[in-house]
Amino acid sequence: MLNSPCPTLLCKFIETSKDGYGIFDADDMLIFANYTFKDVFCLEQKGDEPISFEQMVCQAFKQKRGIHIEAENAESWLKYVETVRRSQPFRVFEVDMVDGRWFLFSEQLLASGEMLVQCKDMTRQKVTETQLQQSVSRLNKLALTDELTQLANRRCFVESVETELSRCKRGTGSVTMMIIDLDLFKNINDNFGHHAGDAALVQVAGLLKTALRQYDIVGRIGGEEFAIFLGSSDLGTALTIAERVRLSLVNNPLRYKDHSINLSASIGMTSRRCDATFEQLYTEADAALYKAKANGRNRVELFEQAELSGSNSA
Ligand code: GH3
Ligand code: MG
Ligand code: MG
Repeated sequence: MLNSPCPTLLCKFIETSKDGYGIFDADDMLIFANYTFKDVFCLEQKGDEPISFEQMVCQAFKQKRGIHIEAENAESWLKYVETVRRSQPFRVFEVDMVDGRWFLFSEQLLASGEMLVQCKDMTRQKVTETQLQQSVSRLNKLALTDELTQLANRRCFVESVETELSRCKRGTGSVTMMIIDLDLFKNINDNFGHHAGDAALVQVAGLLKTALRQYDIVGRIGGEEFAIFLGSSDLGTALTIAERVRLSLVNNPLRYKDHSINLSASIGMTSRRCDATFEQLYTEADAALYKAKANGRNRVELFEQAELSGSNSA
């Protein structure tokens, strides 16, 4: 009983199934389609006129209904489909519809050329998948971005610089690292409150971005400390940029309530050949920063080899 053929009953199940079933002959004419399949392709439910796969696609494209065809015209889309359709005995793929639904399609090809096409509504899974992807990219962005200034955070800065260093390791150019530490920043918090301090950090972040080129890397690496990495620039250009950064802070005091609050920063920088490591660059820029603070603040100091011994962090 279990193995005895029961075509009528099977047909009934298929006719009323929520999954779509369609059979194409060897010439790609649709010779059977259940209710759901016709619905997906916007075919007449009662029409028994034979229709080819190509006609189905052109009809859907013209009416802007059914499957979503992302092409300028149906012909170019069909050209692409020709390269994959009937290319394997069994093929599974996802298709989105003009009305926003998603279907999981499978094509099963017989040696004689007939093909069974099955489709299953997967809209709910797709919505969940999209929400999940959005959450992951939101979380990734949160993990890499400083919330207050929207600059790269320390982790992101380190990773970006290390990527850049490994890319230009064998090159002959030089790279520059700068550490920028705001001067007497504690005074801003003490005199005008923490909100003023926060506003100053946001303003400085904006000024840094404006002073830099699109491909330079900038991040907030600590409370009132920022860092800049210049991927390929000679010492002269790097010094010009550092000075531009320093001046842009001095020339743009923070307007806070009725106050004009002066801003300045000390900048330690180092330039090296691009086979340097992140740690070398950071240690040297930090040593130069220490010197900039010691020499009176609001200035740029370039690291020189002899300075490293005995210096502390600023
Ligand atoms: P120096 O010129 O020697 O660098 O002096 P400074 O006052 O800038 O240095 P110090 O390290 O003594 O103070 C840094 C201050 O930055 C202390 C801390 O309260 C403040 N700070 C760190 N992060 C934030 C922040 O996110 N918001 C605000 N408002 N203040 C911050
Ligand atoms: Mg500091
Ligand atoms: Mg400081």
